[in-house]
Amino acid sequence: DVSQQQASQARERIAYEDIGGLQRELSSIREMIELPLRHPEIFEQMGIDPPKGVLLQGPPGCGKTLIARAVANETDAKFFGLSGPEIMHKFYGESEAHLRKVFEQAAKGPSIIFLDEIDAIAPKRTGLGSEQQVERRVVSQLLTLMDGLQSRGQVIVIGATNLPDAIDPALRRPGRFDREITIGVPDKPGRLQILQVHTRGMPLAEDVSLDRLAQVTHGFVGADLQSLCREAAMARLRRMFPTFDLSQDQIPVEVLQKLTVGVEDFDE
Ligand code: ATP
Repeated sequence: DVSQQQASQARERIAYEDIGGLQRELSSIREMIELPLRHPEIFEQMGIDPPKGVLLQGPPGCGKTLIARAVANETDAKFFGLSGPEIMHKFYGESEAHLRKVFEQAAKGPSIIFLDEIDAIAPKRTGLGSEQQVERRVVSQLLTLMDGLQSRGQVIVIGATNLPDAIDPALRRPGRFDREITIGVPDKPGRLQILQVHTRGMPLAEDVSLDRLAQVTHGFVGADLQSLCREAAMARLRRMFPTFDLSQDQIPVEVLQKLTVGVEDFDE
């Protein structure tokens, strides 16, 4: 399970340059996470505790997961990705044991534990139903594990949520997820940079203006822009090879090399 995660991490080595926009957000995250991972001695010297937990909040598809993976890769920290619903369902009955196992593995070296959709394990609502009891046990296990982390900054837990107001306030006390960063919907310059990231390897025709695309995609988040680029490339393929049978036909290299994605493909 854990080695599978490492394999997938190696396959897609996400770096800071794969993140469009979000410069300010990224630099506070780097200060909070990269500094203690790389230089725990600075915090010791200054007599302050490095953060153990950082909460990333904001709408889906804006890059929370991307940032967590990039920071892990760039700092050579191990990345342990978990999601709230997965902990609650896939590991039903052994959720706490699973959390303990992950923290144990992480403690072996510099690590980032990424808890996506943390609101699913730590909702604020109270009640006495059996589901709420499980949630409470999982939250208290998580808090115990975080409290037990050495304050040397080598393990940092990043939580992500779309619903920051829905999580148990106990999680946000000092020494837990006590720093928060909002990862919001990109503005026009942000969209332009995200489009640049996702068209980096694409043969774009000269008539394509990423600036204009950024202009007309108000409200698009990173995930939308990524899919826009992918769809444009697919539209070009369909346009070029309307009767193409993938299982039968060979595309000659000369034809492939001349393929470019044009403005009409993005407009589709
Ligand atoms: P969720 O809350 O659904 O987990 P998220 O904020 O974690 O959303 P990501 O999984 O990081 O979103 O983003 C989904 C995909 O969208 C990424 O794999 C990436 O390709 C693209 N994307 C999102 N934001 C950006 C960005 N700022 N720059 C480049 N690509 C982005």
